[in-house]
Amino acid sequence: MAVRITEECIACEACAPECPVAAILEEGHEKNPYDDYFYVKPESCVECVDHADAPRCAEACPTEGAIVWDMPYTTEFNEYYASRNEEGIYKIREHKKKGLMLPEVKEQKFIADIAMSEREAEANVQEF
Ligand code: SF4
Ligand code: SF4
Repeated sequence: MAVRITEECIACEACAPECPVAAILEEGHEKNPYDDYFYVKPESCVECVDHADAPRCAEACPTEGAIVWDMPYTTEFNEYYASRNEEGIYKIREHKKKGLMLPEVKEQKFIADIAMSEREAEANVQEF
């Protein structure tokens, strides 16, 4: 990851078209674990690195607290994402040959300037 969409989301659809890597799914999508709000696939989100100066989804989002920071999608946080996947917070893609697309299978880019404390606190991405 990544950024995470929270239950504050009002499903307004503003964010998904802005994502350069099609990482955002609408509510009720079969790959979205949530029925009522949008979802960011952590295995796909690159925090807009190499695409924009700041996460585009958060720039488009009108709802405070709907998009928050999560940990980098890197091997250091492999177990973290594995357990969040088991808890149902995420629904990480299962690749036919590679298996669950956890960070140990494929890491993603992240904004190094974001302090780990901000990520641990799930701070608002809009304030970045
Ligand atoms: S931060 Fe960028 S890559 Fe990640 S979900 Fe938002 S728009 Fe997509
Ligand atoms: S822009 Fe914000 S409120 Fe609208 S769907 Fe995306 S996360 Fe939800």
